[in-house]
Amino acid sequence: MSIYRTHILLPIDEGTVLAGVFQVKRRLERELQSRKMQNEIKVLESGSVGIVGKGVILTVFPDRMYYFQVKENDIARIIEEHLLKGRIVADLAHGHVADMTADLTAARVGLTREQRRVVLDKAWAVDPQNINEVLAAGAYRALEKIFSDKLSPEQVIEEVKRSGLRGRGGAGFPTGMKWEFTRQAAGAEKYIICNADEGEPGTFKDRLILEGDPHKLIEAMTIAAFAIGAGRGYVYIRGEYGLSIERMQKAIDQAREFNLLGKNILETGFAFELEIKKGAGAYICGEETALIESLEGKRGNPRVKPPYPVSKGLWQKPTAVNNVETLANIPAIISNGAGWFRKIGTEKCPGTKVFTILGHVEYPGLIETDMGTPLREIIFSFGGGIKGGKKFKAALLGGAAGVFLSEPLLDVKMDFENLKESKAVLGSGAVLVMNEDTSIVDMLFSIAKFFAHESCGQCAPCRIGTRQILNIVYRIRRGAGKKGDPQTLLHLAETMFKSSLCPLGQSLVMPVKSALENFKDEFALAISQSEK
Ligand code: SF4
Repeated sequence: MSIYRTHILLPIDEGTVLAGVFQVKRRLERELQSRKMQNEIKVLESGSVGIVGKGVILTVFPDRMYYFQVKENDIARIIEEHLLKGRIVADLAHGHVADMTADLTAARVGLTREQRRVVLDKAWAVDPQNINEVLAAGAYRALEKIFSDKLSPEQVIEEVKRSGLRGRGGAGFPTGMKWEFTRQAAGAEKYIICNADEGEPGTFKDRLILEGDPHKLIEAMTIAAFAIGAGRGYVYIRGEYGLSIERMQKAIDQAREFNLLGKNILETGFAFELEIKKGAGAYICGEETALIESLEGKRGNPRVKPPYPVSKGLWQKPTAVNNVETLANIPAIISNGAGWFRKIGTEKCPGTKVFTILGHVEYPGLIETDMGTPLREIIFSFGGGIKGGKKFKAALLGGAAGVFLSEPLLDVKMDFENLKESKAVLGSGAVLVMNEDTSIVDMLFSIAKFFAHESCGQCAPCRIGTRQILNIVYRIRRGAGKKGDPQTLLHLAETMFKSSLCPLGQSLVMPVKSALENFKDEFALAISQSEK
């Protein structure tokens, strides 16, 4: 067996595949072989490191040096300079590091800054397609612990409850309570569903978890199934997520082969089967009851609640529907204990949160950091600040159904409770940053257009309301706004909030209200110019 002096990681995701990562990998392997270095340097595929828009990324370990925008033609230079002479290839290096003696900690700015990773701990450090590697990195130890410590389902639920884990899909409902309700619901047949129908504009955290560490989800769902008493589970993945589906399927097949899924898991007699269902391409299918309808083969229309899925879900049987990120916390909670988890984040919102940073920042991408991290730190430290030296204007938090925040709220702490106090929401964890040149009227128009397009049309307030809001914002945008338009917009959005059937119709009030309140002058100016 070879002992390698250096490991080179090539993160594989949809973006790096398009940028030519496989061509770079083949070239790298060829060049190493031609120099007889293949037994010294190990080339590995990994999940995404969370950095987007930087082409092929190559990470050299143990130096933890990141090279961006790597092309096939750069490979010989990286081998000669970095791997043979120990000199950094400065023009490709992240952080503009000039030589190996530089302080690399200081150079790790933006998304390569030190992060606390619970959910994404293995996602970029191991080859997710190699189960032996994933097992060596600690996968399935939480599941083993449950059986070796002879924990009962109730004890597992209690541990999750004690951890304070809240759903990361947006609503923030306590996960342990959801599992308890499902376990206590009447009926022998129960289901666990992983909601991986990630459709929130600008959000791709679930995709990177699925691509980078699918075994973590399998382990978490098996633990959830044991806790609630389910024999079958489904991962409902957005249809456009080709690589996620491929990797998840491969991981399921490997887990079955290793007796980690199936009829007799780890020789304990516990049986659990897991299946992937492809999403139907509608945003509304991310709503849990619409997702269940779609899983049953019907049109993805939301159901009237109550009854909630925990008592009447899939095929009218008790069902726990959990988001990808929520589930990805479970193995660490079981392995390290609820007390460990509670030490991270804030008292009311323990743990970490995966944020997608996008828009006008230097480093768009994905980070994982403690709940309660100030928005300013997320934008200006992890995101590297506003691109091109421009000024900050606004951040849209939580996706399309989110809230526009202006500069005075930059120090808000990013967790469920603190955001609620500032009339904002955590939502999916998307942070869309806008610079001084951005028109909030234009932004609101895009959001209204999205909602009008995605309304399933089942209930009148949403079907008609989204269209009306779109028409009014459109008229303001093209210079034909009327004096009472802001009040009408607010009235329509509030009526939709009170009378719509599901969160889609109920949540348009958040971007509408926050845009009108926090950027009042901009709307007033657009309307006053229309009236001239
Ligand atoms: Fe459909 Fe909108 Fe009604 Fe939800 S609120 S059920 S998306 S029409």
